[in-house]
Amino acid sequence: MDIRLTNTLSRDKQIFVPIDPGRVTMYLCGPTVYSFAHIGNARPPVVFDVLFRLLRLKYGEEAVVYASNITDIDDKIIQEAARSGRSLKDITTTYEGIYREDMRALGVLEPTFRPRATEHVDGMIGLMTRLEQLGHAYRTPNGLMFSVPSMPTYGRLSRRDRDEQVAGARVDVDDGKRDPADFALWKASKPDEPAEARWTSPFGEGRPGWHIECSAMAAAALGETIDIHGGGLDLIFPHHENEIAQSECAHGRPMANVWLHNGFLSMDAQKMSKSLGNVAHVHDMLKRYDGETIRLALLSAHYRGPLDWTDALLAQSQATLDRLYNALRRISSAQPADEPPPAGVLNALCDDLNTPQALAELSALAAEANKADPADWPRLRAQMKAAGDLLGLLSKDPEVWARGDEATARRIDERVAARLEARRSKNFAEADRIRRELEGEGVEVMDSPQGSTWRRIRGLGQ
Ligand code: AMP
Ligand code: ZN
Repeated sequence: MDIRLTNTLSRDKQIFVPIDPGRVTMYLCGPTVYSFAHIGNARPPVVFDVLFRLLRLKYGEEAVVYASNITDIDDKIIQEAARSGRSLKDITTTYEGIYREDMRALGVLEPTFRPRATEHVDGMIGLMTRLEQLGHAYRTPNGLMFSVPSMPTYGRLSRRDRDEQVAGARVDVDDGKRDPADFALWKASKPDEPAEARWTSPFGEGRPGWHIECSAMAAAALGETIDIHGGGLDLIFPHHENEIAQSECAHGRPMANVWLHNGFLSMDAQKMSKSLGNVAHVHDMLKRYDGETIRLALLSAHYRGPLDWTDALLAQSQATLDRLYNALRRISSAQPADEPPPAGVLNALCDDLNTPQALAELSALAAEANKADPADWPRLRAQMKAAGDLLGLLSKDPEVWARGDEATARRIDERVAARLEARRSKNFAEADRIRRELEGEGVEVMDSPQGSTWRRIRGLGQ
């Protein structure tokens, strides 16, 4: 089955054809590790994780090579070091660790490569040396600049005209710039910057700019032309435009054949920003919600469109997962058959990663499972699990899911035990009170000769 993707370069949906089906390559710009990742930062890794899973299904697990970097050299990290008095290494290793932990909790598979900028400075210098030799870069007292007029096709991805390029370029105090659209490849060290952020190079002591980091890491991990390059749509200009300029001028061939960009996430219809105080960290959210609930909420809108993050969206996602897990629980005594993912789910994902449609198909399977005869259980169980694997959902034991998080589950166990004790001592009023109290929390108590068990009938806290 063909996979169709909307390529930002052409602005249309095209059948995806890899350069080599035996080695399909994908690169996603990763986080700058100076703080916690917010929920908007989690959208690209989750969306591209679904694509990674889909590509692995189509081309084989070993055939897909996925790299997503860690930006551990950047102005923001240096600023954080100056503010907190911590070393750069301390800051970047701390937040890289937290990022990876958060992504694991969101069901994001480990990419094949996770290159760090600090480990690729030689490759960056190599690229810049080549750009300088070919007349695409020039030195200034502030470092090395890329000469935008040296590349006639500059601006092809973002389709910005010359005025817009200049207006969008970073306003840097750089008297050495020959053209206002030129951008920094190498930034000369300033006296107050820490030694940790200095590297020697033919262009003097300094550090690489953000764009050249990705150009070098993508080439080192995947090669000079890759199949798919992704990121949030804010990266189209200038970041991806500049990655293209550097890589294509240095290598003389396209950097990537398909460019994919996810839409932006807003918070209660507002832009997420520190000044509005509405920045939600994934790390905090994971203390209140299961990673799968957050993941499903992130996949509830099509990746190219906007996504508005609200408490209602999370409550709805939790209720959807409860429904899916309850259906799976009903049929879980069946041995799963050997089934591929159902065609409805697969078709939806192959159509430019239509995750809302895929989730609707999965919900329809759950509805079927709730009514099905035991003869159909093995097929349904296998299909639900296969669809869940593709979407990165339903990875838990339905029994465990029904209990909710451990702390809450233990508290409910205690309440159920207290109710049983009340019944034994014939205090039925108290037993009924506890039952109603638990019902109010969305917990149903079931009595049997063996004792009492319980299950969640809807998301806790709703
Ligand atoms: P940054 O660490 O700011 O470079 O961002 C890392 C990734 O998160 C980039 O791919 C951005 O495009 C993406 N991103 C940042 N904010 C949002 C948002 N509000 N919605 C969706 N993606 C975002
Ligand atoms: Zn990048």
